[in-house]
Amino acid sequence: MIIPVRCFTCGKVIGSEWQRYLQLLSGGKDAREALDDLRLERYCCRRMILSHVDLIDDVIPFG
Ligand SMILES: [Zn+2]
Repeated sequence: MIIPVRCFTCGKVIGSEWQRYLQLLSGGKDAREALDDLRLERYCCRRMILSHVDLIDDVIPFG
């Protein structure tokens, strides 16, 4: 849905990294390099980004 603002486990703010993550991926980096560039080092934070599926634009018409 919407990227959570904070990591569920440690509470680090990760919501602001989503757009930059997408930019890095579209720039040709793989997920590992993008997460390293965003300085998301803990695996709890990395999984928040990696496992996120951005569905909000698909769901809005049904709201
Ligand atoms: Zn975390």
